[in-house]
Amino acid sequence: MPGFSTVQIPADKRPPYIGRFAPSPSGPLHFGSLIAAVGSYLQAKSQHGRWLVRMEDIDTPRVQPHAADAILSTLERFGLGWDGPVLWQSQRLERYQQVLAELTQQQLVYGCQCNRRQIQQAGGLYPGSCAALQLSQPPLAWRLRSQGTSTQFTDLVFGQQQIDAAVAAEDYILKRRDGLFAYQLVVVVDDWDQQITEVIRGADLLSMTPRQQRLFQLLGATPPRYGHLPLAVSAPGHKLSKQNHASDLSQWPLSHSLARALAVLGQPLPPTLIAAPVNEQLSYALAHWRLAKVPQQLEIPCSDFA
Ligand code: GLU
Repeated sequence: MPGFSTVQIPADKRPPYIGRFAPSPSGPLHFGSLIAAVGSYLQAKSQHGRWLVRMEDIDTPRVQPHAADAILSTLERFGLGWDGPVLWQSQRLERYQQVLAELTQQQLVYGCQCNRRQIQQAGGLYPGSCAALQLSQPPLAWRLRSQGTSTQFTDLVFGQQQIDAAVAAEDYILKRRDGLFAYQLVVVVDDWDQQITEVIRGADLLSMTPRQQRLFQLLGATPPRYGHLPLAVSAPGHKLSKQNHASDLSQWPLSHSLARALAVLGQPLPPTLIAAPVNEQLSYALAHWRLAKVPQQLEIPCSDFA
């Protein structure tokens, strides 16, 4: 348990732990997402919880054929076995539409006709230009009135967080002009429906967390706890690049990638296990896993993958 949890709920009164890993099948599993998979898996299993896998295949233009299957078989090769069936977002469009309709009925949603260029010209964050226009003529994006979104939350890894007020106040998109549901809506509906108790994921989503907590609140649901994991980068501010195969897991022995992922998570293996079979590495990591040892560092340079 993280050190700053204040309310101690007796173990038999706590809801059973349910965690998840939610990859987007826009390509094979890469080193960055392996870190999120391993961290969320170990956290769930160390609490004797369930670990679900959800395929975030909602952004259909970005989905690559066979990527989802490749991701699942890579998880299996690392010994990261998930509980229950995989949930596919592409099969849940009716549910998302139903939730959007409920929010619309509560007057929490409005149509927006602005394009990306207009928003860039306004400084990159949407300034609410269409909020009072009551537009209904398609094509429109549908935005949430985000009033009331907090600028603060407590992260299980990074502790007390202060989010930029302008980011927190942005009326963000729930359904896009092209008719696709946006990540911000579907992630909350899915975490809610899957009764996720704790979200452990990459720190690139840290600043999005208050939005998701607020949406839970508006839907009358209790948000899960959130913990974010450091991102592996080739150099400060530079993502591991997919283009130059920097994070391509197929280039490395499984045990090498798992050992490195554990090192990024602040749980290095002893030298005798660095090249051991992944099942041995994973059982050692599980026995020694402590969320409190995950570095409070947004980015960790991984020179091997540069
Ligand atoms: N699908 C997102 C990704 O692959 C993760 C979303 C989440 O964990 O909330 O980066």
